[in-house]
Amino acid sequence: MPSIKSLLDEATKILAINSDSATLDAEILLCQTLKKERSYLRTWPDFELQPKQTTQFWSLINDRQKGTPIAYITGNREFWSRNFHVSPDVLIPRPDTELIIELSLKLIPHNKPIKILDLGTGSGNIAITLAAERPNADVSATDFCLAALGIAQLNANKHNINNIKFSQSNWLSNVSSTKFNIIVSNPPYIAEDDVHLTEGDIRFEPRSALCSGKLGLKDIKIISENARNFLEPGGHLLIEHGYDQQQAVQAIFNTFEYDLVKTTTDLSGQPRVTYGQWNKPQPTVY
Ligand code: GLN
Repeated sequence: MPSIKSLLDEATKILAINSDSATLDAEILLCQTLKKERSYLRTWPDFELQPKQTTQFWSLINDRQKGTPIAYITGNREFWSRNFHVSPDVLIPRPDTELIIELSLKLIPHNKPIKILDLGTGSGNIAITLAAERPNADVSATDFCLAALGIAQLNANKHNINNIKFSQSNWLSNVSSTKFNIIVSNPPYIAEDDVHLTEGDIRFEPRSALCSGKLGLKDIKIISENARNFLEPGGHLLIEHGYDQQQAVQAIFNTFEYDLVKTTTDLSGQPRVTYGQWNKPQPTVY
């Protein structure tokens, strides 16, 4: 029967043809098969797998070989140090998106019951992280896709989050008339004919969560325009966008008359989140 070491060597060679993370991928999939941590593989390289386990391992390797993202095979992805369940109904949370969390947390006081809305919540990663980091906040999260809302609710339950409500809405069309202090969104922002759509993990992710019209700006426009009716005076809108969309998104925010419009860069130095304030109260002049 094949040992851990021999299976890893063989699987790595096969995956290396298409993946530049072949060793890691093979290790993760073996851990998935054995239901063990990665340290186990190093400690017990000579452990021999049962025929059933070997078959299961090769079936996972086969999925990966065909391009299926690791996160969809294992059904999990880390985001802001929490584990999120994912399926092909939702986008796989990205490290880039942690920037919108960082910026939001700076704006959310610890003790106040402020109202937050996350639009297009997907796996719920943004809404759940904010709700967990600020338990006094009152968080609402929407998605158009019911299957995504099911995953988001599952993730909220998994992390024992009680200060969050999910509902189905096409952006703000079905949001109750409450006003929010913060509206966040990582909307679809890729141009329909972007070549990246044919490469890597992205090929397997839901198009509706990725693409937004010819220039990738259709949904950002809809959100920026409509969020104004749902923000408290001085409330903030934060939107994630593509590395080359800073100017266009700032122009959209300015057209809709947000104040103090700024863009911040992500960990790789790319402009990634644009934010502004709605009707920032002006200091009284006597
Ligand atoms: N909010 C989720 C994320 O940031 C989903 C975003 C989306 O589907 N466009 O990953």
